[in-house]
Amino acid sequence: MAAMPSNHITAPELPSSEANRRHEPRYPTADAAEVVVLSDLPLPFPARVLEVSQTGLQVSLAASLGEGTKVKITFRRPAIVLGEVRHSKRAGDLFHVDIKIDGVLLSPNRHVDEDELALYLSGKGLTEHEFFYVRLHFSECEACQRRLREREAPAN
Ligand SMILES: [Zn+2]
Repeated sequence: MAAMPSNHITAPELPSSEANRRHEPRYPTADAAEVVVLSDLPLPFPARVLEVSQTGLQVSLAASLGEGTKVKITFRRPAIVLGEVRHSKRAGDLFHVDIKIDGVLLSPNRHVDEDELALYLSGKGLTEHEFFYVRLHFSECEACQRRLREREAPAN
């Protein structure tokens, strides 16, 4: 094994996948929000957003969420964050949950178009944000859910 180079320039605490992002300030907030655990039966929790940065946020809610749990956070403002739980810790009667942001969306009120549906079903070709958008829209739009089911199991 080659030794790691010891003279590289160290960037302060930047994960390698995000090394080209500048350090982002954190904004303390007290916004009400709703955190939905994304599963077959989406489970909503009222929450309060404690802190927001470019790559993550911390929310306070009444449940401990396991590391890796996929969540959707809806703010009162028309913004939706999709993320993944990094860490939960008890804070009095509540839990403080750190969430890594996977994507930020505006309100998902546009139907999934045919190209996106085809790419979604093929499992490739969508950017991460498009994939999250489509998945989010499916979770909220029965008409598009029906289209998805018809394409997944076409009638003979
Ligand atoms: Zn739709």
